Amino acid sequence: MSLPAGVRPATILAQADGTIDEATGGLVPSLQPSTTFLRDPDNHYRRGFDYGRDANPVVREVEAVVAALEGGRAALAFASGMAAATAVLRSLPPGSHLLAPKVMYWGLRKWLREAAARGLVAVDFVALDDLDAVRAALRPGTTKLLWAETPANPTWVVADLSALAELARAAGAILAVDNTVPTPLLTRPLELGADLVVHSATKYLNGHSDLLAGLVVGPGEGELWERLRTLRHDEGAILGAFEAWLLLRGMRTLEVRLQRQCGSAMHLAAALERHPRIERVLYPGLPTHRGHTLAARQMRGGFGGMLSILVRGGAEAAIATAARVDLWKRATSLGGVESLIEHRASIEGPDSPAPPGLLRLSVGLEDPSDLLADLERALDRAR
Ligand SMILES: *Cc1c(COP(=O)(O)O)cnc(C)c1O
Repeated sequence: MSLPAGVRPATILAQADGTIDEATGGLVPSLQPSTTFLRDPDNHYRRGFDYGRDANPVVREVEAVVAALEGGRAALAFASGMAAATAVLRSLPPGSHLLAPKVMYWGLRKWLREAAARGLVAVDFVALDDLDAVRAALRPGTTKLLWAETPANPTWVVADLSALAELARAAGAILAVDNTVPTPLLTRPLELGADLVVHSATKYLNGHSDLLAGLVVGPGEGELWERLRTLRHDEGAILGAFEAWLLLRGMRTLEVRLQRQCGSAMHLAAALERHPRIERVLYPGLPTHRGHTLAARQMRGGFGGMLSILVRGGAEAAIATAARVDLWKRATSLGGVESLIEHRASIEGPDSPAPPGLLRLSVGLEDPSDLLADLERALDRAR
């Protein structure tokens, strides 16, 4: 069952795209963990399920919700964001040339470096907010894919997706966008011309820091899509049924969570920008941010729940500040209900674009005044 055409994202989310349990009328879909499904006497599988590595009813429901949110024809759910992202990259012909951002999720940057060293892909890293540099780095007829992330971890560089889609198309490449940070509530890359959208649903979509999941949203047909589907099946990268069930539940509250997170992040960014111990606040919602004008045009309804602060005194002062918070949790990841603080340069290593004094903040659902007071206290104590 699905919802009337044209309903808005909050409605799709709250009602999990209208999913009910057909057998009982339960408003919550049942969790079907079976790895194998009964074949009809004439050897067909008319119910549409044969083996758990291919599909699962709850996994399909998750895919329907995310495809509807992104305005895509279809989605494929994977066991993690990295499983989804690497499946896209490995669906390209071996040795394909691709372009990736200089500032991006570091786990994927590390994977790209290693894949390039092994000859799996050829990759150039480029500043996505410099369209001339992107144009110069694209090799028409050779570059197969342009990878984008916006706002990008951990300095929140904003990339113009419509312009990138145009450049990619002119060079014969596809544009794939990691939409984990804004979520489809703030940015819908397919409407801006992207070919594929990738998610770590581990983050905002689920929002409760209790499962790993990833998705690719796209055309649902064509050579690349079929390769992706085959790869997920053959390599066993599909999302587990229990994780899918939890994710469906987590997504129901995405709209209210994200609204609160955007509001609190804006509040914190504005207040922290005036703090004497802070050199700079990086948040696309601040007019002082390099990508603000573009973000205001491209992002709808908020600038996201992620920001970074540059603490005066570099790495030592930043680590000392993170050591003195009581409320914020010192932990990696983002997009959960609890606020997280992290010194990115120590995680990302020497080739990180994160300045040494940078602390990345993932704003949760706590009262923003409590969050601000805790950080201010930590900044003072770290002096
Ligand atoms: C976490 C993250 C990923 C990787 O996702 P996992 O679910 O941890 O595998 C990819 N992109 C971004 C932007 C992320 O934050």
